[in-house]
Amino acid sequence: QPPVASPLVEELKPLKVPAALTVHSLAELMGVDAVELIKEFMRRGFMFTVNEVVEHEVAALSTPAFGYSLLPLEEEKEPGSLVVSGEEEDQSLLVARPPVVTILGHVDHGKTSLLDVIRKSNVVAKEAGGITQHIGAYQVEYKGNRLTFLDTPGHEAFTAMRARGAQATDIAVLVVAADDGIMPQTVEAIDHAKAASVPIVVAMNKMDRPNADAERVKRQLSELNLLPEEWGGEVIVVPTSATTGTGIEDLLENLLAMAEVMEFRADPLRLAHGVAIEARIDKNKGPTATVLVQDGTLHVGDRVIAGDTWGRIKAMISDGGTRVQEAGPAVPVEILGLGSLPQAGDLFEAVPDDKSAKIFVEERRRLQEHQRMTSPTFSLEAASTRIQSGELKELLLILKCDVQGSIDAVKNALSKISSDETQIRVVHAAAGTVTEGDVLLASAS
Ligand code: GDP
Repeated sequence: QPPVASPLVEELKPLKVPAALTVHSLAELMGVDAVELIKEFMRRGFMFTVNEVVEHEVAALSTPAFGYSLLPLEEEKEPGSLVVSGEEEDQSLLVARPPVVTILGHVDHGKTSLLDVIRKSNVVAKEAGGITQHIGAYQVEYKGNRLTFLDTPGHEAFTAMRARGAQATDIAVLVVAADDGIMPQTVEAIDHAKAASVPIVVAMNKMDRPNADAERVKRQLSELNLLPEEWGGEVIVVPTSATTGTGIEDLLENLLAMAEVMEFRADPLRLAHGVAIEARIDKNKGPTATVLVQDGTLHVGDRVIAGDTWGRIKAMISDGGTRVQEAGPAVPVEILGLGSLPQAGDLFEAVPDDKSAKIFVEERRRLQEHQRMTSPTFSLEAASTRIQSGELKELLLILKCDVQGSIDAVKNALSKISSDETQIRVVHAAAGTVTEGDVLLASAS
């Protein structure tokens, strides 16, 4: 058969597709008969049935015949990431975006109090009629710059999101009460932040307390390889008091300075994508979800997919409680219009139309199911085989022992069996039983 004449490349319409795509879905996205598509594949030497998954490069060969050119897939941020699509980033369109900050630390060291005082002193939303509401994140403005804070403190929430594929945080503020010093959950928080490669700024809190001991905290930090700047290291330690407000501006100043160095950038003109940070059913509004836009701009009317649900955005509400029409990079908004509830940490993405939303969700479910079916359960035997074949270069471990003394003994023994071919890295070690946080960390790592 003669090949179907391809239109000139310039005339091809761009087509955004999921990473894993069946012949059926590809045909549907282009609005062509699946049989025609199968024939086109055959002309190019590929035999497919309707429900077979086509690799992106192969799919790209077939689409020009139907007037489409496939947009390149975005680099997968993490293996197994469910980000399904995306246009290539045009560097010239990138603009600075606010940093996204999470507060971690031991219980009662002042995480919630710090979040409150930061929020009260600098809220962006002075919008008329708006009642500040907790939607899971908020933005503050300091000296003309914005910062976004995630409102659920603690490393469990942080790592739970990571375990679902989301890296929502740019900088972690580690709160250490100066009177109490480093506690077990402080160490956990440090390990969780390090496992995520998120830089740490220390807020040495409760400095107003008479028994606050700054030197001790710095010494303890040094022992955990977080050497304070004033001691020649790289870790910024800001003395604060959530009660008196001392040091809060200093903290914000330091976060902004770090953000400037790290150059967070986004393209406000593209379709939005980001992460769901909270979701709930509202009696009157139905399923609502707070999403953090990580790139692009989200608009009322956009079709979005989030986790394995989708919908058309009916309304958006800011952290200041007012309705907004759009939300740009690093802005958290509550959205109305999803079919059901996504989970915290689910990735969301705006797509061109209803049809692609349906197909994308379908493909995401398929991909998830596929990953669930094929992800091997971890066993030492399997790990050992992979080490011997040279496939496994690094073995990450979380070590839980009865007492501190055994941790050191086991770590020591492990270091002796690390070889040039395979490194053993202890991501977190502590005395005590295995906690949910440990399991999340293992899964996210
Ligand atoms: P979280 O568990 O880390 O969120 O800690 P909270 O923010 O709930 O604070 C625990 C307790 O410490 C509360 O009673 C706070 O009022 C108190 N607190 C927090 N920050 C400070 C501070 O800077 N100085 C003093 N004196 N008390 C504080």
